[in-house]
Amino acid sequence: MKICNDNHLYRSFGKQYSDGIHLGKDYGTFVGDEVRFPYIIKIIDCIYANGYGSLNPSTKGYVVFADCEINGQNYNVNFGHINPQVKKGDIIKPGDIIGTVASFSNHGEILPHLHLGVHVGHGIPASPWGYIKNISDLNGWINPVSLGLA
Ligand SMILES: [Zn+2]
Repeated sequence: MKICNDNHLYRSFGKQYSDGIHLGKDYGTFVGDEVRFPYIIKIIDCIYANGYGSLNPSTKGYVVFADCEINGQNYNVNFGHINPQVKKGDIIKPGDIIGTVASFSNHGEILPHLHLGVHVGHGIPASPWGYIKNISDLNGWINPVSLGLA
């Protein structure tokens, strides 16, 4: 099952960019594309946070954190740059809509996408951002592609 319509990938996990080390995989989409997940998830929180509206840190948007189990292992997954259609405490079945991709721009370039982060263990990670500055904060974050999430 596709997580969303993936037109192109323009940022992958763990790469170093001028704004830091990317903590997820980005799926290039159109605004309004529906976001789903192939496993049962429990919504831990929907947070309106800096950096999830665009790469401009003063522009806020939503990021959804959810616990799940994949192949017997606990993970916390986060869905960034979306307009959630879920709320804290919801249990979402595979294929049900979590939200839709929000508008996103960076320095005038329109780049709507889903940011998917995966962290080992349940609960919101200690470093819950899309990017980190310090490589030691990478602890526990894994590449979604390694779990077959593409
Ligand atoms: Zn991203």
